[in-house]
Amino acid sequence: MTGFDLLIRGGLLVDGTGRPGRPADVGVAAGRLTVLAPGEALRTGGAAEVIDARGRVVSPGFVDVHTHSDGVTLLGRSGDGSDGSDGGSGRALVRASVLQGVTTEICGNCGSGLFPALPERLPAMRAEARITFGGDVGVYADFAGFAAAHARVPRANHLTSLVGHGTLRAGVLGPVDRPARPAELRTMCALLDASLSQGAAGLSTGLIYTPGSYAGTDEVVALAAVAARHGKPYVTHLRDEMSRVEEALEEAIEISRRSGAALHVSHHKTAGRYAWGRTERTLPRIAALRAEGMDVTCDVYPYTAGSTALAAMLPPWANDGGLGALTARLGDPAERDRMRRAIAEGVPGWENTVGNGGWDRISIACAPRHPLAEGRTIADLAASAGADPLDMAADLLVAEAGEVTIISHSMVEEDVRRVLAAPYTMIGSDGVPKPGGRPHPRWAGTFPRVLGRYVRELGLLGLEEAVHKMTGMAAARFGLTGRGVIRDGAHADLVVFDPAAVADLATFTEPLLPPAGIDVVVAGGQVVVRDGAETGARPGSVLAL
Ligand SMILES: [Zn+2]
Repeated sequence: MTGFDLLIRGGLLVDGTGRPGRPADVGVAAGRLTVLAPGEALRTGGAAEVIDARGRVVSPGFVDVHTHSDGVTLLGRSGDGSDGSDGGSGRALVRASVLQGVTTEICGNCGSGLFPALPERLPAMRAEARITFGGDVGVYADFAGFAAAHARVPRANHLTSLVGHGTLRAGVLGPVDRPARPAELRTMCALLDASLSQGAAGLSTGLIYTPGSYAGTDEVVALAAVAARHGKPYVTHLRDEMSRVEEALEEAIEISRRSGAALHVSHHKTAGRYAWGRTERTLPRIAALRAEGMDVTCDVYPYTAGSTALAAMLPPWANDGGLGALTARLGDPAERDRMRRAIAEGVPGWENTVGNGGWDRISIACAPRHPLAEGRTIADLAASAGADPLDMAADLLVAEAGEVTIISHSMVEEDVRRVLAAPYTMIGSDGVPKPGGRPHPRWAGTFPRVLGRYVRELGLLGLEEAVHKMTGMAAARFGLTGRGVIRDGAHADLVVFDPAAVADLATFTEPLLPPAGIDVVVAGGQVVVRDGAETGARPGSVLAL
């Protein structure tokens, strides 16, 4: 044996399979791993670089199964925002993921992505994507186009994408509130099939969000059947995660059963006061299905607050026709009154976040033209202005051309812990790396928070179990062959962390602070983080699965 490019020596190897950690050295050569008995490498030729991992855990690189990072590296020409094209926050946004140990991001979640679309719909979608993703990130005809755009921008870690159903629907029908006609559904199936053939990771839906919410169950079954033919999962943000969460879970189960696609429930939660504690029913339901042999899994982020668009607090008809139509309706006092009534009384089939929680649980994360509103609740802003909360929200949406990000303090800790502890739950940040404001800290803190708070401090999870949820389990679910485990011949994506010090430092007021204790990150065989700081290496690629 000749020497290695890199040797990580003296650490506790936690290999991502869930098996107990053991002392071992790990060699890297030509982007692949070799597991060595302690000291063995020194007798076989050494290495160009040696990292001392004594007192540290050596694990596979983390797989973030749930991101909205579809466009963040595309925002600046240099890929890191250093040209100032995104107001200067881009560097921290791009960096946050790899600094917490993530070597593969899976975007295209919640039905929203940057492909696919019919050519004639691309210009209109490009304009909407500019608002949704915070800059001119483009929209692409298919996964190959998306991958080609990313290939032009060097990146530290790897990326792959699901096919978002909402984007697919808008890319064929436009953002309209009506069923797909048979020919349109055939076109959607064909576009989905093409992108899955090119390597997209699966199909995602966001059935709470327009335009995905305009689809009935049958439409999703037809699409999920295409994913099933590719052996790829159906990944869903359920139609309701609040008072009707159990019905929404049953719809997802029906879609999986009828289509034959494996089911993955995104960021499983039971939010809002009427649903708190409901994980005591949803999790046993999932466990029973698994016991019957059904392939169903989920992911979770370790926080009791979520984050989404302010427009999603309004009834679905308010968003019919897209952002332009929404802002026009918000200018009409009679339409505002209809929205107020819908929130007070509910609309069948619609997850009514404000009706389930209240405007005092909704705080502004990002409103670029109203920085002083960021961090404050809608209820508080309305009280200060002597205004009705719906009018406050509507005025803000109009002034921001429809795009305001919010943080919704909607969950209780017991539910989060129950989901985290379930043996089929993996970890996904649900990070939304968009320039400006105060985004949810999960984009910078999720993985260290699980290892620090839920493993070391609370003992909710064992170390090996937690690492498995972040690596091997996730790679198996999404078909990341040769990743998520440390074994001979696997891809050289690694994290070296200090189990005594690892912790998230990002908060709601300082949301992009890098974590403590993530010392070294290796992606594609190169050291991309050393001593907790980026090295500048850019070995990342778009993974076609
Ligand atoms: Zn979601």
